[in-house]
Amino acid sequence: MNCLFCAIVAGDIPASKVKENDNVLAFNDINPQAPTHILIIPKVHFENAGELAAADEKILAELFSVARDIAAEKSLNGYRTVFNTGKDGGQTVFHAHLHLLGGRALHWPPG
Ligand code: AMP
Ligand code: ZN
Repeated sequence: MNCLFCAIVAGDIPASKVKENDNVLAFNDINPQAPTHILIIPKVHFENAGELAAADEKILAELFSVARDIAAEKSLNGYRTVFNTGKDGGQTVFHAHLHLLGGRALHWPPG
């Protein structure tokens, strides 16, 4: 399987790592949309958040716990967590990833 984020987990493609444990890896987005823009991914491959939720609720929850921990470490005044799913959802990498955005006031609704 040819998956960019699996390659990052394997260490075959470099990433700017922020946090890591047995289940989860967090790294800086290569094209940041806010001063803090971090991707938090399960180390095991799932195509999207729904597939992850159906297979492993614990790791899905862990992605949000890691987001909370990173936000606290960075003293963010608030943050946004986003899963894009499918073409119209804006998903471009088909390995589930939670976007953590912060460091500026974010607009709503998103485009
Ligand atoms: P999405 O559009 O929700 O699938 O998000 C994919 C994200 O991955 C985008 O925000 C990209 O900027 C980011 N991205 C793509 N390639 C890399 C990479 N090699 N390292 C870090 N982030 C990446
Ligand atoms: Zn993958």
